[in-house]
Amino acid sequence: MFDLADTQEIINLTAWQKRPFGSSTQSVHGQVDGRQPRAHNSLTTPIMQTAAYTFENTADLRAFKEAKLWGQAEGRGEYGRYGNPTVRAVEKRIAALENGDDAILFPSGMNAITHVLLSILPTGSHIIFTDDCYHKTRHFGNVFLKRLGIESTQVPMGDAAALEAAIQPNTRIIISESPTNPYLRIADLEQLAAIAQKHGVKTMIDATFATPINQKPLDWGIDLVVHSATKYFSGNNDLLAGAVVGKVELIGALRQSQGVLGGVIDPHAAFLLERGLKTLALRVAQQNQTAQAVAEFLDSHPKIERVWYPGVPSHPDYAIARRQMSGFGGVVSFEVAPLPGEAPVDTTSRLVDAMTIPYIAPSLGGVESLIIQPAIMSYYELSSEERLTIGIKDNLVRFAIGIEDTADILADLEQALAQV
Ligand SMILES: *Cc1c(COP(=O)(O)O)cnc(C)c1O
Repeated sequence: MFDLADTQEIINLTAWQKRPFGSSTQSVHGQVDGRQPRAHNSLTTPIMQTAAYTFENTADLRAFKEAKLWGQAEGRGEYGRYGNPTVRAVEKRIAALENGDDAILFPSGMNAITHVLLSILPTGSHIIFTDDCYHKTRHFGNVFLKRLGIESTQVPMGDAAALEAAIQPNTRIIISESPTNPYLRIADLEQLAAIAQKHGVKTMIDATFATPINQKPLDWGIDLVVHSATKYFSGNNDLLAGAVVGKVELIGALRQSQGVLGGVIDPHAAFLLERGLKTLALRVAQQNQTAQAVAEFLDSHPKIERVWYPGVPSHPDYAIARRQMSGFGGVVSFEVAPLPGEAPVDTTSRLVDAMTIPYIAPSLGGVESLIIQPAIMSYYELSSEERLTIGIKDNLVRFAIGIEDTADILADLEQALAQV
Protein backbone atom coordinates (compact mmCIF):
# COMPACT_ATOMS: atom_id res chain seq x y z
CA MET A 1 0.00 0.00 0.00
CA PHE A 2 0.98 3.63 -0.50
CA ASP A 3 2.32 4.92 2.80
CA LEU A 4 3.59 8.42 3.42
CA ALA A 5 6.62 7.17 5.41
CA ASP A 6 7.68 5.02 2.45
CA THR A 7 7.23 7.97 0.13
CA GLN A 8 9.50 10.15 2.28
CA GLU A 9 12.19 7.46 2.04
CA ILE A 10 11.88 7.19 -1.71
CA ILE A 11 12.03 10.95 -1.98
CA ASN A 12 15.51 10.89 -0.43
CA LEU A 13 16.91 8.82 -3.30
CA THR A 14 18.96 10.95 -5.66
CA ALA A 15 18.11 8.95 -8.78
CA TRP A 16 14.45 9.41 -7.97
CA GLN A 17 14.97 13.12 -7.43
CA LYS A 18 16.60 13.38 -10.83
CA ARG A 19 13.71 11.69 -12.55
CA PRO A 20 11.33 14.41 -13.75
CA PHE A 21 7.67 14.04 -12.91
CA GLY A 22 5.09 14.15 -15.67
CA SER A 23 2.85 17.19 -16.00
CA SER A 24 -0.12 15.73 -14.17
CA THR A 25 2.00 14.63 -11.18
CA GLN A 26 3.60 18.08 -11.15
CA SER A 27 0.15 19.70 -11.28
CA VAL A 28 -0.82 17.83 -8.14
CA HIS A 29 2.47 17.79 -6.21
CA GLY A 30 4.87 20.30 -7.71
CA GLN A 31 8.51 19.20 -7.67
CA VAL A 32 9.71 16.17 -5.71
CA ASP A 33 11.22 18.41 -3.04
CA GLY A 34 8.15 20.63 -3.19
CA ARG A 35 6.27 18.47 -0.69
CA GLN A 36 7.04 20.16 2.61
CA PRO A 37 5.18 19.37 5.81
CA ARG A 38 2.18 21.68 6.08
CA ALA A 39 0.71 23.40 9.12
CA HIS A 40 -1.41 21.03 11.25
CA ASN A 41 -0.64 18.20 8.79
CA SER A 42 -3.10 19.70 6.37
CA LEU A 43 -3.28 17.72 3.13
CA THR A 44 -3.99 20.85 1.09
CA THR A 45 -2.02 24.10 1.17
CA PRO A 46 -3.54 26.24 3.96
CA ILE A 47 -4.78 29.73 3.09
CA MET A 48 -2.52 32.04 5.07
CA GLN A 49 -4.92 34.96 5.23
CA THR A 50 -2.67 37.46 6.94
CA ALA A 51 -1.33 40.91 6.12
CA ALA A 52 1.72 40.68 8.41
CA TYR A 53 3.89 38.17 10.30
CA THR A 54 4.94 38.47 13.92
CA PHE A 55 8.34 38.27 15.63
CA GLU A 56 8.92 36.67 19.02
CA ASN A 57 11.17 39.47 20.22
CA THR A 58 13.79 41.88 18.92
CA ALA A 59 16.45 39.15 18.72
CA ASP A 60 14.11 37.13 16.47
CA LEU A 61 13.55 40.18 14.26
CA ARG A 62 17.31 40.87 14.10
CA ALA A 63 18.02 37.24 13.14
CA PHE A 64 15.44 37.51 10.35
CA LYS A 65 16.93 40.79 9.06
CA GLU A 66 20.43 39.22 9.05
CA ALA A 67 19.16 36.17 7.17
CA LYS A 68 17.41 38.47 4.68
CA LEU A 69 20.67 40.35 4.02
CA TRP A 70 22.22 37.03 3.01
CA GLY A 71 19.19 36.01 0.96
CA GLN A 72 18.38 33.20 3.40
CA ALA A 73 15.01 34.31 4.72
CA GLU A 74 12.92 32.02 2.50
CA GLY A 75 9.97 30.55 4.39
CA ARG A 76 9.75 33.34 6.94
CA GLY A 77 7.24 36.14 6.39
CA GLU A 78 7.51 39.82 7.30
CA TYR A 79 4.72 41.69 5.50
CA GLY A 80 2.11 40.57 2.97
CA ARG A 81 3.48 42.62 0.09
CA TYR A 82 6.85 40.82 0.41
CA GLY A 83 5.46 37.29 0.30
CA ASN A 84 2.86 34.81 1.48
CA PRO A 85 3.31 31.03 1.99
CA THR A 86 0.10 30.10 0.12
CA VAL A 87 1.20 32.20 -2.84
CA ARG A 88 4.74 30.78 -2.64
CA ALA A 89 3.46 27.19 -2.82
CA VAL A 90 1.58 27.95 -6.04
CA GLU A 91 4.57 29.78 -7.53
CA LYS A 92 6.76 26.71 -6.98
CA ARG A 93 4.21 24.47 -8.64
CA ILE A 94 3.97 26.70 -11.70
CA ALA A 95 7.79 26.88 -11.95
CA ALA A 96 7.94 23.06 -11.91
CA LEU A 97 5.32 22.78 -14.66
CA GLU A 98 7.23 25.18 -16.96
CA ASN A 99 10.66 23.62 -16.23
CA GLY A 100 11.62 27.01 -14.81
CA ASP A 101 13.87 27.89 -11.87
CA ASP A 102 11.26 30.05 -10.23
CA ALA A 103 7.90 31.76 -10.78
CA ILE A 104 6.11 34.80 -9.42
CA LEU A 105 2.37 35.41 -9.19
CA PHE A 106 0.47 38.63 -9.85
CA PRO A 107 -3.19 39.59 -9.36
CA SER A 108 -3.90 39.44 -13.12
CA GLY A 109 -2.23 38.51 -16.39
CA MET A 110 -2.05 42.17 -17.43
CA ASN A 111 -0.45 43.07 -14.12
CA ALA A 112 2.20 40.39 -14.74
CA ILE A 113 2.97 41.77 -18.22
CA THR A 114 3.02 45.45 -17.24
CA HIS A 115 5.07 44.66 -14.13
CA VAL A 116 7.79 42.89 -16.15
CA LEU A 117 8.00 45.75 -18.66
CA LEU A 118 7.97 48.53 -16.05
CA SER A 119 10.62 46.72 -14.02
CA ILE A 120 13.16 45.90 -16.69
CA LEU A 121 12.88 48.71 -19.27
CA PRO A 122 14.97 51.85 -18.75
CA THR A 123 13.91 55.19 -20.28
CA GLY A 124 15.01 55.47 -23.87
CA SER A 125 14.90 51.73 -24.49
CA HIS A 126 13.02 49.90 -27.21
CA ILE A 127 10.86 46.79 -27.36
CA ILE A 128 9.61 44.60 -30.19
CA PHE A 129 6.15 43.02 -30.32
CA THR A 130 5.01 40.49 -32.84
CA ASP A 131 1.60 41.39 -34.27
CA ASP A 132 -1.67 39.61 -33.41
CA CYS A 133 -0.83 40.04 -29.73
CA TYR A 134 -3.26 40.68 -26.87
CA HIS A 135 -4.77 44.11 -27.58
CA LYS A 136 -4.22 45.44 -24.06
CA THR A 137 -0.52 44.45 -24.18
CA ARG A 138 -0.17 46.43 -27.40
CA HIS A 139 -2.10 49.32 -25.82
CA PHE A 140 0.30 49.35 -22.84
CA GLY A 141 3.28 49.60 -25.21
CA ASN A 142 1.79 52.25 -27.48
CA VAL A 143 0.41 54.50 -24.76
CA PHE A 144 2.01 53.91 -21.35
CA LEU A 145 5.55 52.91 -22.31
CA LYS A 146 5.64 55.62 -24.98
CA ARG A 147 4.92 58.15 -22.25
CA LEU A 148 8.05 56.91 -20.44
CA GLY A 149 10.15 57.39 -23.59
CA ILE A 150 10.13 53.67 -24.47
CA GLU A 151 9.47 53.02 -28.14
CA SER A 152 7.99 49.85 -29.57
CA THR A 153 8.10 48.25 -33.01
CA GLN A 154 5.60 45.72 -34.23
CA VAL A 155 6.82 43.00 -36.59
CA PRO A 156 4.76 40.43 -38.52
CA MET A 157 4.51 37.04 -36.85
CA GLY A 158 6.79 34.45 -38.46
CA ASP A 159 9.01 36.95 -40.32
CA ALA A 160 12.51 36.26 -38.93
CA ALA A 161 14.19 38.79 -41.25
CA ALA A 162 11.82 41.59 -40.18
CA LEU A 163 12.39 40.65 -36.55
CA GLU A 164 16.17 40.81 -36.82
CA ALA A 165 15.98 44.06 -38.82
CA ALA A 166 13.83 45.64 -36.11
CA ILE A 167 16.47 45.08 -33.40
CA GLN A 168 18.16 48.36 -32.42
CA PRO A 169 21.13 48.96 -30.08
CA ASN A 170 18.63 49.99 -27.35
CA THR A 171 16.27 47.02 -27.83
CA ARG A 172 15.81 45.23 -24.50
CA ILE A 173 13.10 42.66 -25.03
CA ILE A 174 11.13 40.86 -27.73
CA ILE A 175 7.59 39.92 -26.77
CA SER A 176 5.41 37.43 -28.54
CA GLU A 177 2.41 35.33 -27.81
CA SER A 178 2.33 31.73 -28.87
CA PRO A 179 -0.32 30.73 -29.78
CA THR A 180 -1.72 34.20 -30.48
CA ASN A 181 -5.21 35.49 -29.96
CA PRO A 182 -7.41 35.06 -31.99
CA TYR A 183 -5.56 33.49 -34.96
CA LEU A 184 -3.53 30.93 -33.01
CA ARG A 185 -0.32 31.91 -34.81
CA ILE A 186 2.72 30.04 -33.47
CA ALA A 187 6.11 31.69 -32.91
CA ASP A 188 9.14 29.58 -33.83
CA LEU A 189 10.54 29.77 -30.30
CA GLU A 190 13.95 28.27 -31.03
CA GLN A 191 14.52 30.71 -33.88
CA LEU A 192 13.19 33.65 -31.85
CA ALA A 193 15.49 32.83 -28.92
CA ALA A 194 18.51 32.40 -31.23
CA ILE A 195 17.99 35.79 -32.94
CA ALA A 196 17.50 37.54 -29.59
CA GLN A 197 20.53 35.90 -27.97
CA LYS A 198 22.73 36.88 -30.91
CA HIS A 199 21.88 40.52 -30.16
CA GLY A 200 21.84 40.25 -26.35
CA VAL A 201 18.09 40.90 -26.19
CA LYS A 202 15.73 39.18 -23.73
CA THR A 203 12.64 37.27 -24.86
CA MET A 204 9.24 36.90 -23.24
CA ILE A 205 6.46 34.62 -24.46
CA ASP A 206 2.86 34.97 -23.41
CA ALA A 207 2.00 31.27 -23.44
CA THR A 208 -1.48 31.58 -21.94
CA PHE A 209 -3.14 29.77 -24.86
CA ALA A 210 -0.70 26.84 -24.78
CA THR A 211 -0.20 26.03 -21.09
CA PRO A 212 2.93 24.02 -20.12
CA ILE A 213 0.97 20.87 -20.93
CA ASN A 214 1.23 21.71 -24.65
CA GLN A 215 4.38 23.83 -24.89
CA LYS A 216 7.35 24.75 -22.68
CA PRO A 217 8.98 27.93 -24.05
CA LEU A 218 11.91 27.88 -21.56
CA ASP A 219 13.03 24.54 -23.05
CA TRP A 220 13.50 26.37 -26.39
CA GLY A 221 15.73 29.08 -24.88
CA ILE A 222 13.12 31.75 -24.08
CA ASP A 223 13.98 33.91 -21.00
CA LEU A 224 10.55 34.59 -19.51
CA VAL A 225 7.16 32.92 -19.85
CA VAL A 226 4.06 34.81 -18.85
CA HIS A 227 0.56 33.44 -18.29
CA SER A 228 -2.83 34.89 -17.70
CA ALA A 229 -3.52 32.33 -14.96
CA THR A 230 -7.11 33.54 -15.17
CA LYS A 231 -7.49 31.18 -18.11
CA TYR A 232 -6.33 27.53 -18.20
CA PHE A 233 -4.32 27.58 -14.93
CA SER A 234 -7.38 28.50 -12.87
CA GLY A 235 -9.58 26.55 -15.25
CA ASN A 236 -12.79 27.44 -13.48
CA ASN A 237 -13.57 30.98 -14.64
CA ASP A 238 -13.64 32.09 -11.02
CA LEU A 239 -10.51 34.20 -10.42
CA LEU A 240 -7.96 36.51 -12.00
CA ALA A 241 -4.22 35.90 -11.74
CA GLY A 242 -0.99 36.20 -13.70
CA ALA A 243 2.31 34.33 -13.54
CA VAL A 244 5.86 34.88 -14.80
CA VAL A 245 8.39 32.02 -14.94
CA GLY A 246 12.13 32.11 -15.66
CA LYS A 247 15.64 32.14 -14.24
CA VAL A 248 16.18 32.81 -10.53
CA GLU A 249 17.91 36.18 -11.15
CA LEU A 250 15.12 37.50 -13.35
CA ILE A 251 12.31 36.34 -11.09
CA GLY A 252 14.23 37.55 -8.02
CA ALA A 253 14.46 41.03 -9.57
CA LEU A 254 10.70 40.97 -10.24
CA ARG A 255 10.09 39.97 -6.64
CA GLN A 256 12.09 42.99 -5.46
CA SER A 257 10.10 45.34 -7.69
CA GLN A 258 6.83 43.69 -6.64
CA GLY A 259 7.56 44.86 -3.11
CA VAL A 260 7.65 48.40 -4.49
CA LEU A 261 4.98 48.36 -7.22
CA GLY A 262 2.67 46.39 -4.96
CA GLY A 263 0.82 44.11 -7.38
CA VAL A 264 0.30 41.10 -5.10
CA ILE A 265 -2.27 38.33 -5.45
CA ASP A 266 -4.64 37.65 -2.58
CA PRO A 267 -3.86 34.36 -0.73
CA HIS A 268 -7.42 33.16 -1.21
CA ALA A 269 -7.16 33.61 -4.99
CA ALA A 270 -3.81 31.78 -4.85
CA PHE A 271 -5.48 28.88 -3.03
CA LEU A 272 -8.21 28.64 -5.69
CA LEU A 273 -5.54 28.82 -8.37
CA GLU A 274 -3.66 25.88 -6.82
CA ARG A 275 -6.90 23.92 -6.65
CA GLY A 276 -7.48 24.64 -10.34
CA LEU A 277 -3.91 23.73 -11.27
CA LYS A 278 -4.28 20.20 -9.91
CA THR A 279 -6.58 19.29 -12.80
CA LEU A 280 -4.73 21.27 -15.50
CA ALA A 281 -3.35 18.27 -17.41
CA LEU A 282 -6.70 16.47 -17.43
CA ARG A 283 -8.64 19.51 -18.55
CA VAL A 284 -6.16 20.47 -21.27
CA ALA A 285 -6.11 16.92 -22.66
CA GLN A 286 -9.90 17.03 -23.02
CA GLN A 287 -9.83 20.55 -24.48
CA ASN A 288 -7.10 19.59 -26.99
CA GLN A 289 -9.14 16.61 -28.11
CA THR A 290 -12.43 18.48 -28.58
CA ALA A 291 -10.75 21.47 -30.26
CA GLN A 292 -9.01 19.17 -32.74
CA ALA A 293 -12.32 17.46 -33.57
CA VAL A 294 -14.09 20.83 -33.91
CA ALA A 295 -11.34 22.23 -36.16
CA GLU A 296 -11.43 19.17 -38.41
CA PHE A 297 -15.24 19.29 -38.57
CA LEU A 298 -15.32 23.01 -39.46
CA ASP A 299 -12.37 22.79 -41.87
CA SER A 300 -14.48 20.82 -44.35
CA HIS A 301 -17.83 22.50 -43.64
CA PRO A 302 -19.33 24.45 -46.59
CA LYS A 303 -20.70 27.22 -44.33
CA ILE A 304 -17.26 27.93 -42.90
CA GLU A 305 -14.89 30.03 -44.98
CA ARG A 306 -11.74 29.44 -42.97
CA VAL A 307 -10.57 27.71 -39.80
CA TRP A 308 -7.68 28.91 -37.62
CA TYR A 309 -6.31 26.05 -35.52
CA PRO A 310 -2.62 25.02 -35.43
CA GLY A 311 -3.55 21.33 -35.32
CA VAL A 312 -4.92 21.27 -38.89
CA PRO A 313 -2.73 21.45 -42.03
CA SER A 314 -4.66 24.50 -43.35
CA HIS A 315 -3.10 26.65 -40.59
CA PRO A 316 0.00 28.64 -41.68
CA ASP A 317 1.99 27.46 -38.62
CA TYR A 318 0.97 23.80 -38.65
CA ALA A 319 4.56 22.61 -39.20
CA ILE A 320 6.05 24.71 -36.37
CA ALA A 321 3.21 23.72 -34.06
CA ARG A 322 3.84 20.01 -34.74
CA ARG A 323 7.52 20.44 -33.93
CA GLN A 324 7.12 22.57 -30.85
CA MET A 325 3.87 21.57 -29.20
CA SER A 326 2.50 18.33 -27.83
CA GLY A 327 -1.10 19.53 -28.16
CA PHE A 328 -2.68 22.52 -29.88
CA GLY A 329 -4.93 23.96 -27.21
CA GLY A 330 -8.62 24.53 -26.64
CA VAL A 331 -9.31 27.60 -28.79
CA VAL A 332 -10.55 27.34 -32.36
CA SER A 333 -11.19 30.48 -34.43
CA PHE A 334 -13.15 30.42 -37.68
CA GLU A 335 -14.69 32.67 -40.32
CA VAL A 336 -18.32 32.13 -41.26
CA ALA A 337 -19.11 32.14 -45.00
CA PRO A 338 -21.15 35.24 -45.91
CA LEU A 339 -24.72 34.79 -47.17
CA PRO A 340 -26.00 36.82 -50.12
CA GLY A 341 -28.06 39.78 -48.92
CA GLU A 342 -26.92 39.66 -45.29
CA ALA A 343 -24.03 41.53 -43.62
CA PRO A 344 -21.33 38.99 -42.62
CA VAL A 345 -21.39 40.35 -39.06
CA ASP A 346 -25.08 39.40 -38.79
CA THR A 347 -24.81 35.89 -40.25
CA THR A 348 -22.01 35.28 -37.78
CA SER A 349 -24.05 36.61 -34.84
CA ARG A 350 -26.92 34.30 -35.79
CA LEU A 351 -24.56 31.32 -35.64
CA VAL A 352 -23.17 32.42 -32.25
CA ASP A 353 -26.71 32.92 -30.91
CA ALA A 354 -27.81 29.50 -32.20
CA MET A 355 -25.20 27.68 -30.10
CA THR A 356 -26.63 26.31 -26.86
CA ILE A 357 -23.65 24.95 -24.89
CA PRO A 358 -21.13 27.83 -24.92
CA TYR A 359 -21.87 31.02 -23.04
CA ILE A 360 -21.27 34.32 -24.82
CA ALA A 361 -18.49 35.71 -22.63
CA PRO A 362 -14.89 36.90 -22.93
CA SER A 363 -12.08 34.78 -21.45
CA LEU A 364 -11.16 31.19 -22.21
CA GLY A 365 -9.54 28.12 -20.73
CA GLY A 366 -12.16 27.27 -18.12
CA VAL A 367 -14.39 24.22 -17.82
CA GLU A 368 -17.29 26.07 -19.51
CA SER A 369 -17.11 26.61 -23.28
CA LEU A 370 -17.24 30.29 -24.23
CA ILE A 371 -17.85 31.82 -27.63
CA ILE A 372 -17.37 35.35 -28.96
CA GLN A 373 -17.34 37.37 -32.12
CA PRO A 374 -14.17 39.49 -31.55
CA ALA A 375 -15.62 42.31 -33.73
CA ILE A 376 -18.38 42.76 -31.17
CA MET A 377 -16.71 41.69 -27.91
CA SER A 378 -13.18 43.13 -27.90
CA TYR A 379 -13.18 45.57 -30.83
CA TYR A 380 -16.72 47.03 -30.74
CA GLU A 381 -15.48 50.63 -30.50
CA LEU A 382 -13.69 50.34 -33.87
CA SER A 383 -15.29 50.63 -37.31
CA SER A 384 -15.35 47.64 -39.61
CA GLU A 385 -12.50 49.21 -41.65
CA GLU A 386 -10.40 49.98 -38.56
CA ARG A 387 -10.86 46.41 -37.38
CA LEU A 388 -9.67 45.11 -40.73
CA THR A 389 -6.42 47.11 -40.47
CA ILE A 390 -5.59 45.10 -37.34
CA GLY A 391 -6.82 41.90 -38.94
CA ILE A 392 -10.14 41.40 -37.15
CA LYS A 393 -12.84 40.35 -39.59
CA ASP A 394 -16.56 40.81 -38.92
CA ASN A 395 -17.26 37.12 -39.63
CA LEU A 396 -14.63 35.83 -37.18
CA VAL A 397 -15.67 33.65 -34.25
CA ARG A 398 -13.44 32.60 -31.34
CA PHE A 399 -14.62 29.39 -29.76
CA ALA A 400 -12.90 28.66 -26.44
CA ILE A 401 -13.70 25.06 -25.69
CA GLY A 402 -14.42 23.79 -22.19
CA ILE A 403 -14.45 20.26 -20.85
CA GLU A 404 -17.94 19.27 -22.04
CA ASP A 405 -18.19 16.03 -24.04
CA THR A 406 -16.71 16.26 -27.52
CA ALA A 407 -19.83 14.67 -29.07
CA ASP A 408 -22.10 17.28 -27.46
CA ILE A 409 -20.00 20.19 -28.69
CA LEU A 410 -19.93 18.76 -32.22
CA ALA A 411 -23.70 18.15 -32.20
CA ASP A 412 -24.30 21.70 -30.95
CA LEU A 413 -22.18 23.15 -33.77
CA GLU A 414 -23.98 20.99 -36.30
CA GLN A 415 -27.46 22.15 -35.21
CA ALA A 416 -26.33 25.81 -35.05
CA LEU A 417 -24.79 25.66 -38.53
CA ALA A 418 -28.03 24.17 -39.88
CA GLN A 419 -29.75 27.41 -38.81
CA VAL A 420 -27.56 29.82 -40.81
C1 LIG B 1 -6.49 37.18 -20.86
C2 LIG B 1 -5.15 37.36 -21.44
C3 LIG B 1 -4.25 38.29 -20.92
C4 LIG B 1 -4.62 39.20 -19.77
O1 LIG B 1 -4.79 38.48 -18.60
P1 LIG B 1 -5.77 38.93 -17.41
O2 LIG B 1 -5.63 37.84 -16.42
O3 LIG B 1 -7.14 39.07 -17.99
O4 LIG B 1 -5.27 40.26 -16.93
C5 LIG B 1 -2.99 38.38 -21.48
N1 LIG B 1 -2.63 37.59 -22.51
C6 LIG B 1 -3.47 36.69 -23.05
C7 LIG B 1 -3.00 35.85 -24.18
C8 LIG B 1 -4.75 36.53 -22.53
O5 LIG B 1 -5.58 35.64 -23.06
